[in-house]
This record gives sequence, structure tokens and C-alpha cells, in this order.
Amino acid sequence: MTDNARRDVLTFGCRLNAYESEQIRAALAESGEDNIVVVNTCAVTGEAVRQARQQIRRTRREHPGARIIVTGCAAQTEPETFAAMPEVDAVIGNADKAKAAAYAAVPDFGASAAEKVRVNDIMELRETAHHMIDGLKDRARAFVQVQNGCDHRCTFCIIPYGRGNSRSVPMGAVVDQVRRLVGGGINEIVLTGVDITSYGTDLPGAPRLGDLCARILKAMPELMRLRLSSLDAVEIDPALFELVTGEARLMPHLHLSLQAGDNMILKRMKRRHAREDAIRLCADLRARRTDIAFGADIIAGFPTETDEMFARSLELVDECGLSFLHVFPFSPRKGTPAARMPQLSGTVIRARAAALRDKGEDALARHLARQVGRTLSVLVEEPLRARAPDFCEVILDKPATPGAIIETSITAATRTTLQAQAASGALAA
Ligand code: SF4
Repeated sequence: MTDNARRDVLTFGCRLNAYESEQIRAALAESGEDNIVVVNTCAVTGEAVRQARQQIRRTRREHPGARIIVTGCAAQTEPETFAAMPEVDAVIGNADKAKAAAYAAVPDFGASAAEKVRVNDIMELRETAHHMIDGLKDRARAFVQVQNGCDHRCTFCIIPYGRGNSRSVPMGAVVDQVRRLVGGGINEIVLTGVDITSYGTDLPGAPRLGDLCARILKAMPELMRLRLSSLDAVEIDPALFELVTGEARLMPHLHLSLQAGDNMILKRMKRRHAREDAIRLCADLRARRTDIAFGADIIAGFPTETDEMFARSLELVDECGLSFLHVFPFSPRKGTPAARMPQLSGTVIRARAAALRDKGEDALARHLARQVGRTLSVLVEEPLRARAPDFCEVILDKPATPGAIIETSITAATRTTLQAQAASGALAA
């Protein structure tokens, strides 16, 4: 593709950003602007911002004539960082990144740092920018945004300053989006957002996430698999609890935003649960759905965390029976209360993150070993790789069609994957 015809979107961060990059691709095409590379950034850690800057410099070297536009959460929270880069032509805020008009206006942006920036106050947003998409590029499943922003203010988190307050996509629009994707041959839908357990608080009748899931599953009997992205443990509503424990099409895998295992640290994080709540929730769910698996986000090295407090995060892995751990070494984000707290040394933070990762890898290996001998229907992601309902990664003995759901027998396990014998013929193509 020649430089002039280029319209590229480079995505950092979460599933929601991946979904929005599809919307940006559609907006770019609608704007008619060519020779553009959009960098859709993430602000969750300092490392994410560093990687985006590195990518911008590389893009400029590879495409000297292209216009480079930076958007996403890091552009929203620290536009000056990108505007100061000579490689950058424009910085657009999250509120406008899916609008064709925003890209059509770029030729009129000036060259000075101030003139490059069009970032509005994200807290003023009251609605989600909902655009229908036809599926995500190169993926066996499709993410569907149901919510954006967050009303909470956890002391370590920069997200609300990048995405604004919580806003929900009306249920009808979500169902229409799911219908469009399933009609296009997608067998698995992942509901995504920033804080999806606060779904509906801003909608008439205040439907909850459980109501939305029930509505989708009722409206779409042909939908094979519904999956949920990260959940706030204490905000799981009763209807959702019933669906998770009783509906086979709702995948038995919950990723919980737990963050720490010590109650004093949870308090200093301004989290809304205690460790006992997390342990009880996992036990109650597992009692009603024995094949359920849990993942969790845990931060290592939050300011003021002592060795004893950290030990309780390690213990939580066993007490909740977590199998998929996402470990985040604490990264102070400018403008958050936690960045102003007394910081631990980088050495301590890295050592605790390593210890948590080791703990997580052992837990995953034990979970995988328990699957050997089972028969599982898996979603094919690549010809020889698939995903089990509880999110285990499965290596197939023979190629299958990405997007299909096939029956397999689990023959062995490594520390990170399952080995499977694929039955001939797909359950769903
Ligand atoms: S719930 Fe807390 S961690 Fe999650 S996005 Fe909101 S402020 Fe951030």
C-alpha cells in the first residue's frame, strides 16, 4: 500500500480500545482523509505511555509523509506529552476519536504544540458514542461495548480521567449490535466496557448487567457463547449471579478486579470490597457451577504495602482459587491520590510482582492439570489454537477453522496450555 493511501490504526491497551479502533477505522474511511496513522493510546501504566511514544517515533521513521494523530486515554490525560513530540500532527480526545469530522478537521490544525491539541473535558460526556461495527479484525470472537467511563475513583486509577463518568449503551442497541455480529458468523461475543458491573445506572429503569445478559441470550437463541470482560466483584447483581451459575451459554470464566488481598490496602485503594467478600463470592459461585474458573487483576507494591499485607495478596490466590492472574507492578499515575502516597522502591515492587506471577503460574498449571481427560467444546482462534469455555488455551492436534466451535478430548496439559484431540466436524462453523 503506498504511503498516500494509508489509513492505519495502531491500538494499545484494553478490549474497549480494540473495539473503539474499529470505530476509528470506520470514521477515517467516512472522513475521506488519507495518508493517516492513528495511534489509539492507553494510560493505565507509565509503561503503556512509553510504548506509545516509541511506536510514534517508529511510525514517523517508517512513514515520513503520513499524518500521525494520537488519541485514546493517554492523549486525553496528558495531551501535552504528545503535542510536544515533533512526530505528532494532532492530538484528539476520547470524546471525538470515533467522529469522522474530527479527522476531516486535522488539516486545519496548526503546527504549535497548543494548536495540535483538540481535547475536550471528558467529564462532560453523558452518552456513549455508539456506532455499529461488523466485527473485529482477525479475531474469532467479537467485543461489544456496553458501557464506558467510571463513577468510582480508586486512588491508583487514571481511567476515569481518560474516559469520564459511567455511561451505558441502551439495551436495544446492544442487542442489535450482537444480532449483526452473530448474523455475520461470530460464535462468541464478549461484553466489554470500563466498569461493566455499573451497567444501566444511567438508563431509564436502571437495568443491571444481569438484565442485559438475560435480554441478549433470550433475543439470540443462535448465539453460542457469551463472555464477560472484567467485573467488580461486589457489584455482581442477583440476576447475573443466577445466569452465571445456571446458563450454559454464559461462559464459566469470570475475571475479577480484586487488586489486593489486604483489607487496609483495599481501603487505601478506595475499593468497595473486603477480602472476605471476594473469597465468599468465589466459593458461592463455585458451589453452584463447578466448572467455573476465576481470573483476577492484582497490583503488586501499592504504596504503604508491607510484607505482611503483600502476603495476604499471595494467600488470596489460593483462598479464591484463582487460575488466571494479571499482575500489575504499581505504577504511579500523575494526578491520582496514590501517586502522592509514600512510594515503595522499584526493587520491592518488581520482586513482589515476580512472586505474584510465580504464584499465578503455579495456580494455572494446577488448573490445567485438572482438565486432562475432559471433553470440551472449544472456540478455534487460529488453525491449531483454541479457547475453552473457562478460558484455558488449547492446542489442537489438527487444523480447524478459526471462529468454529469444535468438540475436543483433552489429552495432556503443560504449565500454560492444554493439548487436545479434535473431533472431526465443527459444532458450529
Ligand atoms: S473501578 Fe476503579 S480501577 Fe476500575 S476503572 Fe473505575 S476507578 Fe479505575
